[in-house]
Amino acid sequence: MGTGLVWFRNDLRSQDNVSVKKAMDQNEYVLGVYVFDPKMFESDAFGFKKTEKYRAKFLIESVSELRKNLEALNITLLVYSENPEIVIPNLIEEHGIATVFLQKEWTKEEQEVLINVKQEVPKATEWVESYDQFLYHPEDIPFEIANVPNVFTNFRKKCEKYGSIRKPIGVEPLSNKNLLAQTKPIPQLKDLGFDAFETDTRTAFPFRGGENHAIERIQQYFWDTKKLSYYKKTRNGLIGTDYSSKLSAWLANGSISPRTIYEEVKKYEQRIGKNDSTYWLVFELIWRDFFKYISLKHGNDIFKIGGILHKEYDWKSDKDLVDQWIHGKTDEPFVNANMIELMETGWMSNRGRQNVASFFAKEQELDWRIGAAYFESLLLDYDVHSNYGNWMYVAGVGNDPRDRKFNIKSQAERYDPNQKFQNLWLQTTLF
Ligand SMILES: Cc1cc2nc3c(=O)[nH]c(=O)nc-3n(C[C@H](O)[C@H](O)[C@H](O)COP(=O)(O)OP(=O)(O)OC[C@H]3O[C@@H](n4cnc5c(N)ncnc54)[C@H](O)[C@@H]3O)c2cc1C
Repeated sequence: MGTGLVWFRNDLRSQDNVSVKKAMDQNEYVLGVYVFDPKMFESDAFGFKKTEKYRAKFLIESVSELRKNLEALNITLLVYSENPEIVIPNLIEEHGIATVFLQKEWTKEEQEVLINVKQEVPKATEWVESYDQFLYHPEDIPFEIANVPNVFTNFRKKCEKYGSIRKPIGVEPLSNKNLLAQTKPIPQLKDLGFDAFETDTRTAFPFRGGENHAIERIQQYFWDTKKLSYYKKTRNGLIGTDYSSKLSAWLANGSISPRTIYEEVKKYEQRIGKNDSTYWLVFELIWRDFFKYISLKHGNDIFKIGGILHKEYDWKSDKDLVDQWIHGKTDEPFVNANMIELMETGWMSNRGRQNVASFFAKEQELDWRIGAAYFESLLLDYDVHSNYGNWMYVAGVGNDPRDRKFNIKSQAERYDPNQKFQNLWLQTTLF
């Protein structure tokens, strides 16, 4: 029983974290590490910074809270702003680590980093990778990955009928205190190449990153205001904090687990009441799982222009059209308002995302991967599977069996009948 290392990536929580639990069970001492990989802040193939300032700030907040919460479990979180290919092997050597525990990721960039790190460490190092981002664990779904249905309804119905959801794992502090003196502070925005900024007062997402803030949001949205009981009626809203749960950003970096949210919904249903709305939040979490399974099944096809359907369209990549879309200067005010909201806050509602993506891919026939890459850069809640899965879906190269195209004008009339949302974001640019 030596020292185990937990390498945190998109699982920035101390509770209900399988890697933390396994490391604590199997070791006398446990060390945690988070690495701000410079690759996360470089430009991508389309010229966008892979992570823009909004998510960078949220990430810093998340890691800061993780450090405090792990400390309460007698685990030190070491934080570096350097290549993991250097950091992890050094730590393994310095602390005589025999086993590294981490959440299993399967997408290209995450895998590449891990493969490179593994080449730099002693062969005997053990790697314990655990799937820990799902509501339905891969061992608890009623199909092999290769047979995951490509239509959401089939997937959902089978999971609901034959699948099971695990209980969240509670962890107690390690009895051995092995906290190390912190030599490296957590990087700040300027260390990652950003200027400090004020949050736009109009934002629908005024929240901070971190496990405790996720729990606070559940407390507020579920218990204090009972908004969960109205979720199905409000979820297509556009303005303010309460039309939807806003849990996506914490889910994306793993500050909260979907199992914990599910457990809380079940408690709420018992104490306050079950209805269509309480069910619908779980329904949406199953969408989240669905795109993760689609990405597991189809691998790198989710990043390819033909998507998982290998469809050939004549996509354009007109730079002026892309710029107009990004800057909210198209001839569709509803698209513009949503795009300005994204640029000013890092947030956009689900209704907005569907419309701007449909406009981009179906109306302007622009290469959907450029739109997806821009979202990846800006979104506070960027999640590789949800982003590329939804983009493929809207662009007609993914899982939409009906291959729909949004009528932007009628969507604006239906969801923003008094132009309140459009006025909120377009007013300042009118003058
Ligand atoms: C083009 C496009 C790109 C998107 N990119 C992302 C992304 O990078 N990250 C991301 O988390 N979501 C993405 N979504 C899905 C969805 O828009 C957001 O999850 C949702 O708006 C987040 O707000 P919320 O937490 O208040 O959601 P709620 O309505 O409260 O839903 C609860 C949770 O269910 C999940 N969920 C809801 N809708 C979807 C969906 N369509 N697909 C997958 N999961 C869903 C989310 O985890 C969400 O937090 C995208 C949608 C589109 C159309």
